[in-house]
Amino acid sequence: MISADEALKRLQDGNKRFVAGIRGNKKAHITSIPENKDRQNPFAIILGCSDSRVPAEIVFDQGMGGLFVIRVAGNIVAPSQLGSIEFAVENFGTQSVIVLGHSSCGAVTATLDDIKQPRTQVHSNVFLLLIESAQQ
Ligand SMILES: [Zn+2]
Repeated sequence: MISADEALKRLQDGNKRFVAGIRGNKKAHITSIPENKDRQNPFAIILGCSDSRVPAEIVFDQGMGGLFVIRVAGNIVAPSQLGSIEFAVENFGTQSVIVLGHSSCGAVTATLDDIKQPRTQVHSNVFLLLIESAQQ
């Protein structure tokens, strides 16, 4: 397993390629099964938002098997997300955990809007998400 510093450098380099519009990691854009399909060996764990504009593998220009990604609207840490992180650390030895926030997050905006002016017609599960986000 690579060190946390190496993992961060790999992510930063991948993001630079993404921003520049360069697809340097050819494995990031294939749809076939990776060479070692029986065992995964992710070098980083990413807790990111479910927002369709921030897919971790693409914004970090990484291939299949490189990242263990947990996505939830607002990239909040509830027990299930924490358990997923612990699972990856314990089973794969991954040393880097990255929390990937982003600008113009709809979940954060909805939470702030709901705090300012509570809505009455919010689905119960969305309401739970809003509450969890507000408690962060
Ligand atoms: Zn978001």
